[in-house]
Amino acid sequence: MINILNTAKAVFCFSLIFCVTVSYRVFCYLQHGMYIYPSYLKMLVSARICWALGKALIWLCSIKMLTTLISVVNSLKVKAMRAKTFTYRLKYITQLLLDMTPAQREQVKLNIQSIQPEITVGDIIQPIFDISPQCPHCHSLHFNKWGKSGSVQRYRCKECAKTFNIKTKTPLAKLHKCDLWLQYAECMELKLPLRQAAKICNINLKTAFLWRHRFLEAQSEQYKDKLSGIIEVDEFFLAYSEKGTKKLNGDRVARKRGGEVDKRKRGEQVAVLLSIDRSKHMIDGVLADDTASEISSHLEPYIVKDSILCSDGAWAYVSIAEETNCDHKRLISNENRVQDKIYHIQTVNGAIAHFKGWIDIKMRGVATKYLPHYLAWFRESYAGLNFQQMLVAAYR
Ligand SMILES: [Zn+2]
Repeated sequence: MINILNTAKAVFCFSLIFCVTVSYRVFCYLQHGMYIYPSYLKMLVSARICWALGKALIWLCSIKMLTTLISVVNSLKVKAMRAKTFTYRLKYITQLLLDMTPAQREQVKLNIQSIQPEITVGDIIQPIFDISPQCPHCHSLHFNKWGKSGSVQRYRCKECAKTFNIKTKTPLAKLHKCDLWLQYAECMELKLPLRQAAKICNINLKTAFLWRHRFLEAQSEQYKDKLSGIIEVDEFFLAYSEKGTKKLNGDRVARKRGGEVDKRKRGEQVAVLLSIDRSKHMIDGVLADDTASEISSHLEPYIVKDSILCSDGAWAYVSIAEETNCDHKRLISNENRVQDKIYHIQTVNGAIAHFKGWIDIKMRGVATKYLPHYLAWFRESYAGLNFQQMLVAAYR
């Protein structure tokens, strides 16, 4: 095709020059009755020169075509060589992997995962939505794609005609700057205080606070863990707090953080239940009152039958152990804190001390109404969730 085009160009040039020359010669003959050759046209008027010029053009075009052809052949050769080299390298790598121990292969897998292209929030959330896609307004399964809002896909329901996206009616609904969520979730994985997280993500404190509690909302409302095997349980108390509230409830007087709490006074302390098993499953709950029925409602549904319950011996746990057919290890006296070297409540007490320290020192105290959120955060951290898993948990 290129060749034909170039030949046509050359023929056109030749014809143009030939026509101009002939026309000029005819014009001169008609005007003067003889041929006149101006000096600058002497070279052009010869048909031989025109023909030579045309040939030269055709030759140049052919050279160009030939070089193009050579470069195409060369690039194909290079591609074939690359494919051959790649196959050879692949065989070599496969052999190396086969020679490795399982631990070394696991290390390779982790290294590969760490160099994967950066994932987006959509990459994490979309697959969860795709498991059971439905309209969040009327639960219809019939909807169409309806453009995009930023990087988020929008849909339109065929039945209720309302539009929605994958975040609609989830705890993450109407939150903006979703490109920063993963970075924020990383801050949460590191359990960073609010100011630090806001500075890292370059967002204001209000947004950081809103994101924190939206990310923890879903997890604070549902327990998925079941406790089995050796289960440790204990309760602890935290001072009631209305941190961040401008107007305190009733006749309460503001107390300085870390100040003395009148333990005899009702409502000055909040009871919290914490229970963990040896597989790192955790159950927690803020108790409305430190009573047997409250403890039972927060713990009993999550205990697998025929487990072993270790407690400080409170009567509430006796009835729970009976109801769930658990062997109850009552670790009451100081001399009897460990039974048969494995039954104790030291793990749960360690977790309680850790939680209290985190809340008091790193978080500088939290409002009691947000305590379930902080317990959820602590639970996620105790289970070793990474930032991506924390985001998945927030979406549910
Ligand atoms: Zn609908």
